[in-house]
Order: sequence, then C-alpha cells, then structure tokens
Amino acid sequence: MQIGSWKVLTLMEGTWLLDGGTMFGIVPKKLWATPHPADEQNRIVMALRCLLIVGPNQKILVDCGIGDRLDEKQQKIYRHRQTPGGIVGCLARLGVRPQEITDVIASHLHFDHVGGLLTRTEGGRLEPTFENAMVHVQEECWAWAGGPTAWDRGSFFSGDFQVWEQRLKLNLLRGDREIAEQIRVKVTGGHTPGQQIVVVGESDIGGAVVYCADLIPTASHIRLPFIAAYDHHPLATLEEKKVLLAQALEGNWVLVFDHDPYTPACTLVEQKGRVVAGDAVCLNSAK
Ligand SMILES: [Zn+2]
Repeated sequence: MQIGSWKVLTLMEGTWLLDGGTMFGIVPKKLWATPHPADEQNRIVMALRCLLIVGPNQKILVDCGIGDRLDEKQQKIYRHRQTPGGIVGCLARLGVRPQEITDVIASHLHFDHVGGLLTRTEGGRLEPTFENAMVHVQEECWAWAGGPTAWDRGSFFSGDFQVWEQRLKLNLLRGDREIAEQIRVKVTGGHTPGQQIVVVGESDIGGAVVYCADLIPTASHIRLPFIAAYDHHPLATLEEKKVLLAQALEGNWVLVFDHDPYTPACTLVEQKGRVVAGDAVCLNSAK
C-alpha cells in the first residue's frame, strides 16, 4: 500500500499460542471462542505481525517478532512457529537485507515484539539483528523494561536488556513524535508504560495506516470491553481505543493488527451506533 512517498507492507514473523482468557480479559469465552478457537489448553493462535515502511532513503521496521529466542520450556508453552527464516527471511523475500534496515520502531518491549532485535550466534552470543538500525522506543517503556515487576516479568526476555543497552543504537523518545515525514508515534500506555502506536500518513494525503500494537491486537478487540488481562491500566486502554477508533472511522484509516491471524488489517464502519470492522485490507502481505 502506498501512502505518500512510503510503501507500507505487513510481514509475518510467525505465530504462537497464548491463553485465550488472558487475551480477552473479562470477556466470557463464549464471546471470543468462535472467532478465536481455543485448543485443549485454552490457547489461541496469535500472529506476530510487523510492518515494513519503505521510503526513498529509509527502510523502517515496526516490531520484529519473537526471533530465535525461546528456550525449551517457553517453546512448550508458546509453540512459536516462525515463517521460514523469521523476520530476516521475510525481508529477504522482499529483497531487503537486515543491514539495510535504517530504523526499528519498537511499539513496546514485550518479548513477542522485540525478541527479534537480537540473534543468537552459533557461539551462543547475542548480536543485534539489524546492525545499522536506530531503535526508537519511548523512554518510559525503556525504563520499565529495565526492572519490570513480579506481575509482568514473564513478558520480557531478562537477558536482553543488558545487550540492548550495550549494543543497540537507541533513540529514547518522550511522548508523541514524528520519526520521519508522515510517520509518527503516539503513546498509548494502557497496555504497558510507554507503548506507542505508529501512524503512517494522514487523512489529508489520502489515508493513513496505523500499527495498533497491543492497543487493538486483533480485530475482535475493536469491541470496547475486549481488553487483555495483560494491560496495566485497562481503563486507560478503553479511552485510548475510543480516541483511535473515532479518528480511524472519520479518516477511513487502515488499522493493522499485530496478533490477529485471520484479519491482518481493516477499515472501520459504523453499525447501529457502534464502530465495527469494515472491509479487510491486504497490505501486499509477504509471508
Ligand atoms: Zn504487549
């Protein structure tokens, strides 16, 4: 999809399984299990969808999936299945080498979004996957990831932070910012402190694409009460969703869902006073 001078594509790093109950918070299973069938352990399939934004001088990746980083015990729980070659394989099929990535925008630092920032070498060392990239992350998010609580520690790869600190080129952001012309991040901290969504374009140049991160992880989460149990501040998420949905409806924006295996992206429509998913949109999805 072309937005101004940017080409926007979705990439699937892979899929993994997560407890359906945690993904939908207080919503009864009866309401989520039809669109998201659960296995015998109540796990649902989750996508690991990232965005590649290509302009004349920049190749910007938004999130990069889990990478090669789960240990045996975690792999049993999450059943991560990478698409061939993971995120690097996705890029290779588009003719892009990891060294060509100029920027990575990290929506937030949960392992399913940024595990792929590092790659384990054959010798067992962790090396940056995108050696030339500037990594843009909110300062608040960075600070939190350095010392999460006993409640959310499981959402981080504990060994990564130190390597990030030493090896990544970091741009720590304070609040909403323009990362490049027509590409801006907006803080939505209900999910985790300093989470940011990414907006490419504006309605006045013929539309926008929004990477919703875990503010709206699947199309089912367009419904207001559908808020994951992982969210630090569910009522903040509720308000942040209302704002985004109103803007997206008015501007006919395309929303991209990071974790939805069935609907990668869609526009919105209003039905009986409620905002619901409209037409599904394909962003030249590369597998
Ligand atoms: Zn998250």
